[in-house]
Amino acid sequence: MFKVFIKTYGCQMNERDSEQVSQMFLEKPGYAVTADESDADVILINTCSVRDQAEQKALGKMGILGRLRQRKPHVVYGFLGCMAQSRGEELIQDVPHLDLVAGTQKYHKVVGYVDQILQRRLQRQMDEVRYSIVDVAEEEDSQNTIRDHKLKENQSTAFVSIMQGCNMKCTFCIVPYTRGGERARPIADIVAEVRTLADRGVREVTLLGQIVNLYGRHEFPRVDDKSPFVQLLEAIHEIDGIKRIRFTSPHPIGYKADLIEAFRYLPKLASHVHFPLQSGSDRILRAMHRPYKAEKFIEICDQMKEARPDIAISTDIIVGFPGETDEDYLETKSVVERVDFHNAFVFRYSKRRNTPAAEMPDDIQVPERVKEERNQDLLTLVNRLASEKNYALVGQTVEILCEGASKTNSERLSGRTMQNKIVIIEGDQQRFAGEIFDVLVTESTGYTLYGDPVLHD
Ligand code: SF4
Repeated sequence: MFKVFIKTYGCQMNERDSEQVSQMFLEKPGYAVTADESDADVILINTCSVRDQAEQKALGKMGILGRLRQRKPHVVYGFLGCMAQSRGEELIQDVPHLDLVAGTQKYHKVVGYVDQILQRRLQRQMDEVRYSIVDVAEEEDSQNTIRDHKLKENQSTAFVSIMQGCNMKCTFCIVPYTRGGERARPIADIVAEVRTLADRGVREVTLLGQIVNLYGRHEFPRVDDKSPFVQLLEAIHEIDGIKRIRFTSPHPIGYKADLIEAFRYLPKLASHVHFPLQSGSDRILRAMHRPYKAEKFIEICDQMKEARPDIAISTDIIVGFPGETDEDYLETKSVVERVDFHNAFVFRYSKRRNTPAAEMPDDIQVPERVKEERNQDLLTLVNRLASEKNYALVGQTVEILCEGASKTNSERLSGRTMQNKIVIIEGDQQRFAGEIFDVLVTESTGYTLYGDPVLHD
């Protein structure tokens, strides 16, 4: 039995893709999946290219794991995903022990490629001139191959990949070059997948797409003035076992009245939207090729709050984009206060090769020191806004979906509210995992809430 270890860096989309690859190995006779890297016969690293740091981490990890071959000469090493896509063949030159490079449209081929390499090794062709496989070509319909799930016992939440790629070409972003153009899966296929998940005990799904609210805009028509994305939400809402629906990440473009309305009549739609702002300065938004103004972003947030008064909005913000002045930064800060985000991920701008922003002139680059100051200043504001809201929940009853043991303390259980806030409780995993119930919030540390289940008769 060959044991496969998969390490994942990056976003939920990558987590989902790794899950697909794991499941395909489990279905292949002769293979098993292991969480112990030192015991593995196959080491795969699913990579992220959004930041240089993520690439360096993946390369570093691959370097360390390469030592395993001294003990087990047959071990197969592979890079998958975004960095594999953007660097391709170059990785084979740079990493001497690497056998496989499979891009973002090739996850479904990984099992076959690994098997091919292993079989050659076992047939004693190990001394042949180095044998490696690089496949980063585009593949039609590859978006339809991420559809199988490897669920753990009592797993109540799942990610569902509904589309791949992005056509927006924000100037800082490498995704359109690593994930390709937008390609949507048919509604019927996604609904069938979610129905199967519900039958297996999943209660909450998160629909994934790089630009999720624009799902299917090229493939499927609007019906009754509703976008394909809203049609999909409605169809999933019909599935009995599913109690909560989330999606990530939407773009302000295409965030129209039909989606805002959906928060009124689809109660299973979670009261949380992760809604990337990126900058509150119109000038910087233009330079980022984000075709909306700060005012429009605020208006959409106001409309969402009107449609769903308890909605929690979180966001992504980049500070120190080329050309960002103090004034631009202050505009971002003022939008953050105005929208009153529940949470925000703040990033210092860093160049990604082959993106338009990376070509912007040196004299408009923001010094690292200034980026760091803005980063810290914005984090202080964001943390204050987040903790105020969390402290306000102490003494209140909230409904959670219990996801099982807490990641930080396996003696406790962890659940999420509709607003995506994590609540830690004490209790019996067998009894609570996968259940939706009320919790009295007793304490907040600013980020995390603690509470006691409210037991009804
Ligand atoms: S919309 Fe998102 S994924 Fe698409 S280019 Fe912009 S930042 Fe990247």
